[in-house]
Amino acid sequence: MRKRKFSVIDIIIVVVVLATALSALIFINAMGNDGNKVEIIVNGVVFSTVNLKTDEKKEIEIKDSKGKVTNILVLENDTAYVEWATCKNQDCVHHNRISKVGESIVCLPNNVEINIIENTGVEDAAW
Ligand SMILES: [Zn+2]
Repeated sequence: MRKRKFSVIDIIIVVVVLATALSALIFINAMGNDGNKVEIIVNGVVFSTVNLKTDEKKEIEIKDSKGKVTNILVLENDTAYVEWATCKNQDCVHHNRISKVGESIVCLPNNVEINIIENTGVEDAAW
């Protein structure tokens, strides 16, 4: 049986290939058009900004200035949608799921706006 020995060059090649692949992955993530942040605006003020992609279904309670829950936003399968709302017209609840940059769900009665925004955070990118 022949035992294969790794030379220093082999190790360098493996490291370079892995580093390149990782950089490309980070780059693709940073450049992704699939909108990876959800911005929640209440009364014109940013209430919260969360990652669109989650490992499991996530519910976010959107509250007004008095702390009353007005809408419940759900993040699931890289999409966002309003599951429940106090508004009469329920337009936001019936709105299609959103996932792409520029898409939004607006709840006029509650003055709530949910936008998909580009993830500009590149804190993980180490060049
Ligand atoms: Zn609504």
